[in-house]
Parts: sequence; C-alpha cells; structure tokens
Amino acid sequence: MSSSPPPLSVLIAGSGAVRAHPTRGGPCYAVRLGERNLVFDCGRLAVHNLSRFDLAVETITDVFITHLHFDHICDLPLLLLLSWNNGRTRRLPVTGPKGIADFLEHGLRQAYAHDIKSRTAHGKNADYLEWTVKELSSEGVCDATDGSVIDTLITKHGGLLNFNYRLRSGGRTVVIMSDSEPDPRIVDFCRDADLVLIECSGTKEFYATVPWGSWHATPEQVGEMMRDAGAKQVVLKHLVIESFRNNDPQVSEAMAATVRKIHPGGKIHVAADGMTFDL
Ligand SMILES: [Zn+2]
Ligand SMILES: [Zn+2]
Repeated sequence: MSSSPPPLSVLIAGSGAVRAHPTRGGPCYAVRLGERNLVFDCGRLAVHNLSRFDLAVETITDVFITHLHFDHICDLPLLLLLSWNNGRTRRLPVTGPKGIADFLEHGLRQAYAHDIKSRTAHGKNADYLEWTVKELSSEGVCDATDGSVIDTLITKHGGLLNFNYRLRSGGRTVVIMSDSEPDPRIVDFCRDADLVLIECSGTKEFYATVPWGSWHATPEQVGEMMRDAGAKQVVLKHLVIESFRNNDPQVSEAMAATVRKIHPGGKIHVAADGMTFDL
C-alpha cells in the first residue's frame, strides 16, 4: 500500500502580540495536517480570525498552548464555548503547560457557569463542552498520531513554563516557537526545518526601553539561530515593537532585513494575518 504524506499547511491566524493592532490579531497559528486542524495558541481575535480565514472553529481537532501569558490564551475559553455552541460533538483535547487545566476551570467552567447552566437546560450536551487536558511539565513527544510526531522544547520566558512545538510529518518539519529568550538549544530544535514561526518582538534598542525586554530575542539573535539551524523558511511573528511605533509595518520589515542579512540562505517573511504556507 502506498503511503503519501498527509497534506500539511500552516495559516498565520494572528501575527501580532499583546496590544490591539489594526491589522494583526494576537498569537494564533493553525496547522492543517490531513484530516486534523491543529491550533497553536489562542490569543486576541483568534476565534474571529480563524473564521475570517475559513477555518470553522467546530472543525478544530486539537489545541496546543505555548505558555500562560494572556496574549496566548485569552480566546481559548471562547474557542471551546463557540465550537460547542456550533455543534462540536466530541471533547476538544488541549495540550499546554501545567496550569492550563486551572485556567480552563476558572476562566471557563466557573466564569461561564450561568451560561453553561442555561444552555444545558435547553438540551445542549454538556459532555461535549468538556475538554481533555494534557498538562506538560517536561520536554518530549506530546503527540504521535498516524506517523506524525509533535515534540517540545522548554525555553526561558518571563519566568513561565514555556513550550516550543515541533511537528514532523512525512519528511517535513514545522516549528512553532513560543515567546523566548535566545537559547543555543533552539538551533538543534529548528535544524533543517522547512518552516519556523519565531517571535521577533523588537530590536535591542527597543528592549532596553521596556521592563520585559530580556524575555525575548533580537533580530540579530533570531538571524544567528536560524542561520545555524539551516531553517529554510522563517516567519517573524509577535511583532510587539510595531505597537510602539504607530503600527508602522516598516519597523518589522527593517527587522526582517537584519535577519536576511545574517541568514541569506533562508527565506524570511514578516508574518501577516491570513498568510498561508503549503508544505
Ligand atoms: Zn509571553
Ligand atoms: Zn506573547
């Protein structure tokens, strides 16, 4: 029996970060892998943007969360509620750092107790709203299905348990990096990857002006790590600096130019909401 690899595509549903931005939603990346629709992070406008880019929330099969900063999880209760409302008839698996179960317990079950009671009284099956949580506290394989494998790397970021995800399927590798301090282990994690989504929150000069600057990597550090890894395509995302520069896209283009100079062998993109990659 021949086994051609499953179709694999990546949608940038949200290219931005914390602050409201006229054209960028918060972190959210959707991976279509065969029959599965995997969503990584669920930030500001994630639910809206998934629908805007033709991915119905009730067709999402799995959710993965990198870390518990609110810009990466604020739309997760909405995603669970809306997909249930729209007719999802199975429990949604959610994988994320230790603490994600508590977040859903308080931020969904308790926060929406009145709503849930009201809807179930009208016949909605509460069992499908239930979520299946896989809490991670160490690195390793977190998902292995039909020959496709997702594994994780923990890196430092804001004192949180912070997971980066790598998907390997049919000879293709996609890495979805979290927010992260630079780390030499990122090079091996991204080795020869076909596509790496990596944060580029700002420049060294910008980081010196904010208290959380040391939680992130500069364009130079991103360029060096991606060059050493031999990453084929690199998408710069989580472009915080734009919100401090009148949402000027040229600020991100300038960071991309820095990365290109250091890693001329890779194709470097500035993320945009709706951007897709077929691999
Ligand atoms: Zn963060
Ligand atoms: Zn963030």
